[in-house]
Amino acid sequence: MKKQQIKTFLPFLLAALLAGVMYWYHDVYVYWVPVEFGIAVAVSVLLFAGIAFATGRKWPRVLGWTAAFLAVEQGVSYLINNVMHHASGGARPAMRVVLPLLALLTLLLLAKPWRELMSHKARRAVYLSVAAAACVGGVVWVILAVPGYKPLPEFTPPPEAPPAAVEKHSISGYTVLDYGNTAAANLIAETLTQITGEAFTVRGGTPELSGDIMVGQFGGIFNELAEEEYAIMAHAKTSLWDGTPVDGDSIYITGGSPRAVLYGAYRFLEEYFGCHWYTDKLAVIPEGPAEIAVGPENEYERFSPPLEFRETDWISPRDPVFSVANGLNGNVYRSLPEELGGTVGYNGGMCHTIINNFFKPDDFFESHPDWYAYRESSHKRVPRQLCLTNPEVLAEMIREVRAQLEDGNGQRIVSVTQDDNQDYCQCTNCKAVDDEEGSHAGTMLRFVNAIAADIADDYPDALIDTFAYQYTRTPPKHVKPLPNVIVRLCSIECCFAHPLDDPDCPDNIKFADDIKTWSEICDRLYIWDYTTNYGQYNCVYPNFAVLQKNMQFFVAHNVKGVYEEGNYQAAECDSEFAGLRAYLLARLLFNPDIDYDAEMDGFLRAYYGGGWQYMREFVDLMCANAGMPDPLGKHRKLSIGPGPNDKAILDLGPNQVAYADKLWAKAIELAGSETCEQNVLRSQLSWRFWKACSRAGEFSLLQWPGKWLAENKKLFGDFQDFGITRYSEGAMLVTQPPLTWWSTPQSWKG
Ligand SMILES: [Zn+2]
Ligand SMILES: [Zn+2]
Repeated sequence: MKKQQIKTFLPFLLAALLAGVMYWYHDVYVYWVPVEFGIAVAVSVLLFAGIAFATGRKWPRVLGWTAAFLAVEQGVSYLINNVMHHASGGARPAMRVVLPLLALLTLLLLAKPWRELMSHKARRAVYLSVAAAACVGGVVWVILAVPGYKPLPEFTPPPEAPPAAVEKHSISGYTVLDYGNTAAANLIAETLTQITGEAFTVRGGTPELSGDIMVGQFGGIFNELAEEEYAIMAHAKTSLWDGTPVDGDSIYITGGSPRAVLYGAYRFLEEYFGCHWYTDKLAVIPEGPAEIAVGPENEYERFSPPLEFRETDWISPRDPVFSVANGLNGNVYRSLPEELGGTVGYNGGMCHTIINNFFKPDDFFESHPDWYAYRESSHKRVPRQLCLTNPEVLAEMIREVRAQLEDGNGQRIVSVTQDDNQDYCQCTNCKAVDDEEGSHAGTMLRFVNAIAADIADDYPDALIDTFAYQYTRTPPKHVKPLPNVIVRLCSIECCFAHPLDDPDCPDNIKFADDIKTWSEICDRLYIWDYTTNYGQYNCVYPNFAVLQKNMQFFVAHNVKGVYEEGNYQAAECDSEFAGLRAYLLARLLFNPDIDYDAEMDGFLRAYYGGGWQYMREFVDLMCANAGMPDPLGKHRKLSIGPGPNDKAILDLGPNQVAYADKLWAKAIELAGSETCEQNVLRSQLSWRFWKACSRAGEFSLLQWPGKWLAENKKLFGDFQDFGITRYSEGAMLVTQPPLTWWSTPQSWKG
């Protein structure tokens, strides 16, 4: 290559490199394909324009070479993304390595036939204009990028207010009366003994007039309590039975059912002694004197949870004590023994039962293909949904439901729910109903209503449950659910960075409309809601800012039951905020109007120790930066399965990453105990995972490659040390990671 040729080509190469570097490092538009492609075009045009000017070749050839180059580049990146992706996991960075390599190769190929040079003047004009463009581009880039590197002021925790002085009186010497609820009476006595060091004993028999803690279901003013409503009267000055005055204060803890009495007992210990059951392993029982705050005389506080069915998964809710203490009552993940009040819930399966429980294709598809759904596209019957207008199907389903109510586990809800696919029946009859109703919920609801009508007289307490899920989510125009039908509306399509009633979130508007319409026609509306990233269990999932708002939104729309589905496999990958989320969800299910901030702070303090305020700041930072619009203002949806570097999860500048890193460092430093430190480190895995996948912080490509390789290795080792064996809902964590220098933890998917 001649010296002059190099000189002419150099500015083009520099400009191309600059564009490439912006593309590589700044990483703004990685998942925004048009811009990514635009940058690739710009890089290519610059490269080939440089060659053309240096060699005197013609512009059409430049375009030809550009097109050829892009075709090869796109082909290679397609191969890497789709064929090698599972092996390397480093598709995007690898693509960026391939692109400059291809450019170099093309240059070498072109170098040989280089011939005449342009005139000196033309070369100089081109040289100067390209150099000027490169300079302007560089300056613009620096202006845009620099603020992102400017350090943020360090977080200083706000001073904590000392607890307010409260006037108290002694309950020393009180006995606990077991008035028909041994579990609740024992709980009170044992916990008070633990708190005070004084032996509180339980006795049976009749209530004394004073100096007792009376636990059970009483009559009198407590007659009107609803089934799950509890009441606490902590300062009774007269007898509940004959109104005679008593010495000192008597305490009544009661409820509308054995389970509600237990709720009263747990709330009494919380309110008056600061006890909390935060996880299945962490109960806070503070030590202190045998005294309670003075309060209004002869008044009782009562509360009835607005939801009749309250269920979530994660890890802690599998524990009966955690569940009762925090008010869960479903039977999906644990059944509560009778002494803990028993459970409310499903007789048999709780989802996708039509095919999995009642009409198994192996049993019936061959002998009765016309019972199954007809699909227009294939002109065939398919085995994973039913033809709901076929009278034989209805008769068979009624027989099955009746058999289950006779022989099942005694619970009152029978789930008749569609399978997890879009194969609804399109036969003439089904289509006619769906057209008339304006929704596939039409055939479903008419079918379910017929079952519910049939069993209503023989099983007056039983409820038939169905889904408003995916293709049945839109409410029908005419048919209304019978009173003994539950419609469970599922929020699977929604955005969880923004509240469900946020009018500015385009992914939630339709759901808000649907819930309004369903609540108008349905007496028993239930919700199936989602609270994790099923594709990336180990990544941060900033939905803490919407949990309370969504629960209040449900209850405001007359919802009677909520299942908060989260990471039900968390026992295999408890690396995020599983404990915190399970606790907050349970509390919200019981009472959507809790002091959410105080509940979160209480948990953080107990679970993460002395640096809890730094953890809180991290949670707030994360939630404030979830679902941020893209640089052109377009909404980003936080779905239930975004990729780990999807900017809908987090959109943080380098300075915010550094700020968050300091929060974690402080939380570790101040944890104060081995257990709390381990809890911080475990949750930090999700932050490190996000950084590694987003190539931020110590995983940034601005680091020496050896650095991020080492950090990836360390992170993988910590995953193993913390017993993480699962990557996502459908995949385990690999046991041997492909730690090539370009790989991110996405390659750890087994
Ligand atoms: Zn049909
Ligand atoms: Zn949104």
